[in-house]
Amino acid sequence: MVDVEKIRADFPILEEKVYGKLLVYLDNGATAQRPLPVVDRMTEYYLKYNSNVHRGVHYLSNKCTDANEEARREVQHFIHAASEKEVIFTRGTTEAINLVAYAFGEAFVGEGDEILVTEMEHHANIVPWQMLCERKKAVLKVVPFDDKGELQLDIYEKLLTERVKLVGVAYVSNVLGTVNPVREMIARAHAVGAKVLVDAAQAIAHLPVDVQELDCDFLAFSGHKVYGPTGVGVLYGKEKLLEQMPPWQGGGEMIREVRFEKTTYNELPFKFEAGTPDFIGIVGLGEALKYIGKIGVAEAGRYEEELLHYAQEQMRQIPRLRIFGEARQKASVISFQIDGIHHFDLGTLLDQMGIAVRTGQLCAEPVMQHYGMTGMVRASLAMYNTKAEIDKLCEGLRKVEKMLNV
Ligand code: PLP
Repeated sequence: MVDVEKIRADFPILEEKVYGKLLVYLDNGATAQRPLPVVDRMTEYYLKYNSNVHRGVHYLSNKCTDANEEARREVQHFIHAASEKEVIFTRGTTEAINLVAYAFGEAFVGEGDEILVTEMEHHANIVPWQMLCERKKAVLKVVPFDDKGELQLDIYEKLLTERVKLVGVAYVSNVLGTVNPVREMIARAHAVGAKVLVDAAQAIAHLPVDVQELDCDFLAFSGHKVYGPTGVGVLYGKEKLLEQMPPWQGGGEMIREVRFEKTTYNELPFKFEAGTPDFIGIVGLGEALKYIGKIGVAEAGRYEEELLHYAQEQMRQIPRLRIFGEARQKASVISFQIDGIHHFDLGTLLDQMGIAVRTGQLCAEPVMQHYGMTGMVRASLAMYNTKAEIDKLCEGLRKVEKMLNV
């Protein structure tokens, strides 16, 4: 079992007060908080070892370089990648997807080819594909979801033809919380020769991820959603595919030899890591994965699932409240609305009570359009949240209803 009080002690921000009230942080889907070991390790590196990676002969540079490569192995281990060459550091999920949309697109997508995404994707897993399709005169197709928030797999089957070059799908929806059946979807895509990119931004802190078991071709996630720092994330890609893709950004580090006549490129993973990376952020990310690895992602996920069920049960007691996303497999996210109250008002009044939730279109306008909503309120959970905090949220919602007289 997860020892929540012990975990909470590692997150000093959870003892902060906002407007004189103890913070209830339920915006973990946007960004999770960082535990002391991550902040301490980064501080140690800033204060004692700060130096650019991969280019020095001196002690500090070697120290940072070693720590970065250790973090890469930590990621490899965490997602069960076959080789550390398959782990590319990026600025986050968004940059990882853009990298694939460009480099995979250059190598494998041409006029009339198709890219398949789902209706429940975050904008980061829509717009880069639209840009690719525009560039290559390819076609973007969309797999819809039903009102429960589950993908319509019969339509997916129909859309999967040999024209499809790549499927982009969220492991967990950032609005609906749906855990998509990505393993089955990948097998189906492979049967027609399509590759699959899994957007694991909302999964990485809540579900064990095994890229070899999933057999995904690409997988992306951000450090800041898994208790690590901002500005750093990961693209996993199968080595054979990455080898066949051209570099995305050019600059230092991604080259082997630069000549005005012809430049040659570095080996994996450096071919895709142009310029100075956030090398201390990378150290922090490695530490964050070590931290959650010790607790156990599966254990954290089980605890959060219990909390999710409790929260949904409590929220369903509020008659005018509607939850969006009732999939059978759901993780850590509850998006909702109260009839007659604007989502922004709801979020603002909860904030006054010290409760942090997200409001608006949640970077998923197609999901809003599906339900005919201009926005929603989202409470998203982490392993340090408690039933007492859920009770405060529900109490807060009831107070708002009273205040606004609905
Ligand atoms: N994909 C999903 C499902 C997300 O929830 C998010 C962020 O909320 C992203 C992609 C983008 O992540 P980032 O902004 O860290 O690149």
